[in-house]
Amino acid sequence: WYKAELFNKAQQEIAERTHAEEALRISEEKYRTIIESTLDGIFIIQNDKIEFCNQRFANLFGYQTADDVYGRRIDGIFTAEYLKKISNLLVFYDSGVNKTDQTVCKMQTIDGDIFDTEVQSNIIIYNGLPAIQGVIRDISEKINLAEQLRQSQKIESIGHLAGGIAHDFNNMLGGIIGFSELTLKHVFEPEYVSNNLRKIIRKCDDTAQLVQQLLAFSRKQVLDIQPLNLNSTIEGSLKFLQKVIGASIDISHDLTSDISTIQGDLIALDQSITNVCINARDAMPDGGIIELQTRNVTIDNLYCRNHPEAIPGDFVRLKITDDGIGMDEETMNVIFEPFFTTKETGKGTGLGLSMVYGLVKQHNGFIVCESEVGKGTSISLFFPVRIDKISEIEPAKITAISGGSETILLVEDEKDLVLILQTILEEYGYRILKAENGVEALKIYDKNRKDIKLIISDVVMPKMGGARLYNVIHTKNPDAKFLFITGYMLDESFKLKIEVKQLDLLNKPFRKETVAKKVREILDR
Ligand code: ADP
Ligand code: MG
Repeated sequence: WYKAELFNKAQQEIAERTHAEEALRISEEKYRTIIESTLDGIFIIQNDKIEFCNQRFANLFGYQTADDVYGRRIDGIFTAEYLKKISNLLVFYDSGVNKTDQTVCKMQTIDGDIFDTEVQSNIIIYNGLPAIQGVIRDISEKINLAEQLRQSQKIESIGHLAGGIAHDFNNMLGGIIGFSELTLKHVFEPEYVSNNLRKIIRKCDDTAQLVQQLLAFSRKQVLDIQPLNLNSTIEGSLKFLQKVIGASIDISHDLTSDISTIQGDLIALDQSITNVCINARDAMPDGGIIELQTRNVTIDNLYCRNHPEAIPGDFVRLKITDDGIGMDEETMNVIFEPFFTTKETGKGTGLGLSMVYGLVKQHNGFIVCESEVGKGTSISLFFPVRIDKISEIEPAKITAISGGSETILLVEDEKDLVLILQTILEEYGYRILKAENGVEALKIYDKNRKDIKLIISDVVMPKMGGARLYNVIHTKNPDAKFLFITGYMLDESFKLKIEVKQLDLLNKPFRKETVAKKVREILDR
């Protein structure tokens, strides 16, 4: 009987085990079905490699099956923009904080197509070790629809635009023509001539600013995103601001000394601050005080519940407060709409805040407006804190711009601009080779490849434009340094590439110092 007992027991064990295995199989299948039927891409990263992903993830990035993606290095899959965002998750985790990073960013398929995504990433324990788990959703369609709506609204309002802008533009041209004619009459009085030339340059700067605003509005402006200290940006803008605002209004500032670094475009931020301050000025016809305040703030879920436009996370907040006429709830709800203005024709275009809104959005930030009729208004711009290593924060340097003796290949079809750029760069000591288009540039590049340390190239040119030139040269020499100059981007996909790959770019028109500084910066990198 003992044997029979043993036999029975063994049989029971086997039955139990099969039962457990069956349960496990069913449970596994359940999870697999859930993971494989979701419309989101799901992935796990360990040791900088894709440890797991579902089929949807593989398809999003242009791969046939999940097996094609397993084991691949993440820098071959994700854009630098995303990798930057998750780079500190593990660091936080090690110090005991499991953060969830939620972000909207661009991704690229193996064929080079760029698409918009929303990704949520956090740390999990996988195979006994910390790993990054992410859920990625393709939101290109959503963004496209929103964009179409914006475009149609824009067309509707184009009529308003013509009036306001043409008026300002003519005024500025009038000034430029007027001063030029006066100067012609007094060509032999050096003092008079240089005085007037300075005035003309200032008028041109204003005009360029207006064009930038238009481009920003039509979203053709390409952002040049860099690590920025918002305090320094504000300090840099103050002088110009005070001039624009006029003497009857005081600008005071209260800038936090330990401000975090953000990722931003200097010109865009400057334009945003200027626009908000101009509104504050207009709200205080009898004078008053504008206060600029910066703070590091953490936005939590509670705050987001009360401010639907807010996003949770760490931000630098710039709060611009006036004690002017203020506005009611109804007005506050529409101030960001293009062409909404309460000002008389010629005084307001209604573009200011819609532009600020667009720019802050492009910085992944948001705006909160508070106002009370008769009391005043405060507009707060929130910019996400840059999540890179702290060592990269650069203190504001006020050194003289240095030149160099490197050889630079200048590719540009506009003759006047070539002459100007050449003169500027030669003045700083550089050796210049010139080409009128991409085809010519390639020939010169091949002959002088060793010498050429930087290629400055226009984007739109006959025969071969800047985008193709970049591609061809980069396949030959991935380390080749490029600086693009452009008035505006015709080619949306190239604009994306510049933004995603964070290529260097100068918007036309530009000042001498800006060019020299940028060139040195790139060469020293
Ligand atoms: P514009 O200044 O050309 O009118 P904006 O887009 O800059 O266009 O502003 C839209 C509107 O928002 C203004 O016309 C005004 O009614 C309101 N507004 C903006 N800022 C303020 C402020 N600081 N105080 C009161 N009202 C404001
Ligand atoms: Mg305005």
